[in-house]
Amino acid sequence: MNDIQKRMDELVEILEKANQEYYVFDNPSLTDQEYDKYLRELESLEEKYPEFVKSNSPTKRVGGEVIDKFKKIEHSIPMLSLADVFNEEEIEEFDARIKKAGFHPEYVCELKIDGLSVSLHYENGEFVTGATRGNGVVGEDISHNVKTIRSVPMKLNQPVSIEVRGEIYMPRASLAKLNMERESLGLPLLQNCRNAAAGSVRQLDSKIAAKRNLDTWIYHLPNPSEYGLKTQYESIEYMKSLGLKTNPANRLVKNIKEVMEFIHEYGEKRSSLPYDIDGVVIKVNDLEMQKSLGYTSKYPRWAIAYKFPAEEVLTKLTDIIFTVGRTGRITPNAVLEPVIVMGSTIARATLHNEDYVLEKGLKIGDTVSIRKAGDVIPEVVEVKLERRCGNEKDFVMIDSCPICGSKLEKKEGQVDHYCMNPDCPARHTETLVHFASREAMNIDGLGEAIIQDFFNLGFIKRIVDIYHLDDHKEEIIKLEGYGHKSVDHLLDAIENSKKNSLEKLLFGLGIPGIGDKTALALARNYKTLENLSRKTVDELTVQKDIGPILAQNIYDYFQDEKNQILIEELRDVGLNMEFLGEAIKESTLISGKRFVVTGTISFMGRDEIERIIENYGGQASSSVSKKTDVVIVGEKAGSKEVKARELGIPIWDEEKLYSVFKDLGEV
Ligand code: NAD
Repeated sequence: MNDIQKRMDELVEILEKANQEYYVFDNPSLTDQEYDKYLRELESLEEKYPEFVKSNSPTKRVGGEVIDKFKKIEHSIPMLSLADVFNEEEIEEFDARIKKAGFHPEYVCELKIDGLSVSLHYENGEFVTGATRGNGVVGEDISHNVKTIRSVPMKLNQPVSIEVRGEIYMPRASLAKLNMERESLGLPLLQNCRNAAAGSVRQLDSKIAAKRNLDTWIYHLPNPSEYGLKTQYESIEYMKSLGLKTNPANRLVKNIKEVMEFIHEYGEKRSSLPYDIDGVVIKVNDLEMQKSLGYTSKYPRWAIAYKFPAEEVLTKLTDIIFTVGRTGRITPNAVLEPVIVMGSTIARATLHNEDYVLEKGLKIGDTVSIRKAGDVIPEVVEVKLERRCGNEKDFVMIDSCPICGSKLEKKEGQVDHYCMNPDCPARHTETLVHFASREAMNIDGLGEAIIQDFFNLGFIKRIVDIYHLDDHKEEIIKLEGYGHKSVDHLLDAIENSKKNSLEKLLFGLGIPGIGDKTALALARNYKTLENLSRKTVDELTVQKDIGPILAQNIYDYFQDEKNQILIEELRDVGLNMEFLGEAIKESTLISGKRFVVTGTISFMGRDEIERIIENYGGQASSSVSKKTDVVIVGEKAGSKEVKARELGIPIWDEEKLYSVFKDLGEV
């Protein structure tokens, strides 16, 4: 047997085992992404080497085995699967194939509900049976459990004899409740809504399903012509008129551009839906066209399922390394086998502190699931204990600084370890990186790697050295990767930063707890660094948003002699230390109100909009809550707009924002 054939046999074996775990035991050990990857690999090998294709290959079969404990129901029309696609090009290829067959279709976009499909039979309007898809030809009789689902009518609004198909699913809230109960009983938790729904429906005792709060969305009519229907959309409307539960998100669209809009819209809304979806199903609307396009043994040719990129992906934790921040704080970081999560490659994730690592129970070598918190910051969600092989290494917290070797300290009651050596090089470089960053002094070209180089070469050891970098100009030009032009550009950026308004410097100094917004408020209030540096703790707390801890931090910073020397040196090299921004202006529409800006506004960037809001004494925050007064909604706004609408918070669209800013003379 050659290697290709061997691999194909191996894939068949992996997929068959996975099918059994998924469809029969409702307890998969692979993720759907892993399963889909193996299936695609087998499909492409089968295409290239048809001579090795097995007649009962998993690429040709629907679903899994039918469990004997249930009565069997034969489907008069097979219940098929759907061909999966994973990106826009594949959707366009699907459209092109249909057009090549001479059609110019409209499509219906439907949410791909992550549950299990069910076929319901009614005779003269009365419910008769409910069956699973099974292997596509024969399903399991689950009528006793279907009867417990409240959204399945036992009597339709008309006395028709009909078969309809749809999805049984478990709402997210039901899974959360069920898992809470299971946890209190010491039972293993159910992995996800799909497996929980499938497991509930395939029980002999209907009392179990009855307690599980299952629900349905009905989306397919196998025999539409019998009811005089001409399109998929009409079928949905008809089923709705019979009293079946159809999904309100279903949308008739004219072309692939509108399909993509639907996909983007629900890609964003997905996390705020009360049930799981794993994609969007795209169906040719016209039923005659559907008939002409026909079926393969596994899929209809007139529909595809676009699968969303996974929100959570598995990878290996290959190491835990430690970094030192500018305050000396030690952070453990996960080093991961690189994986793509929602479009970007993730190779690192912060693990915050020792307690966090211990709580998660991480060992080096573990398989972990990763997601992007708030869709941005990579986060390790949990360890997959079932994937441990015994070779994993325990996590050990370090007791000395990885950079300078000094003993670490952990203050009582705190979770973080600190390197207390004020001369630790790591603290210095982090301080420098922060000072030069965009939100602080915005010195273009002075990023982390260059600071590290210049630090090691001894050109920049302390903040003030940045302003003496021109002394090293000739040496820098000789370094690999630096030319006259880039050095001049860097020196110009350094020179320009001297003119920054006070808030940039104040943030750049890195006073503990002072973020860019607080720095701006302080600069606006105290006008000069000198004025701020003379305030007592009590005087500082008078300002709104400055609590006793922040006030103490500010006071301590200016009392420290080292900092006093630094400020004098910066003054000597010509740094501006005054607030140059505008004084607070008044607007009844903005002053004193809390705003959230979401989506893209075409006439102005978000930073600029927030700056103007703050100039008028408004507050710009990033999350919508009951305290938000106005949400400004641009193009492709996502869950924040949904939340604002749920909470009934006033929304300004682009037009409204433009007219408000225009009246104020800001645009
Ligand atoms: P599928 O889930 O890719 O798509 C077909 C199914 O989508 C239909 O049968 C139906 O139940 C469902 N669906 C939801 N909303 C729908 C709508 N609006 N219109 C039509 N259908 C809708 O295909 P499948 O054959 O059910 O399952 C295969 C998939 O299941 C794999 O791609 C994989 O993701 C997963 N799987 C995972 C494992 C594992 O080990 N993790 C094993 C087997 C299968």
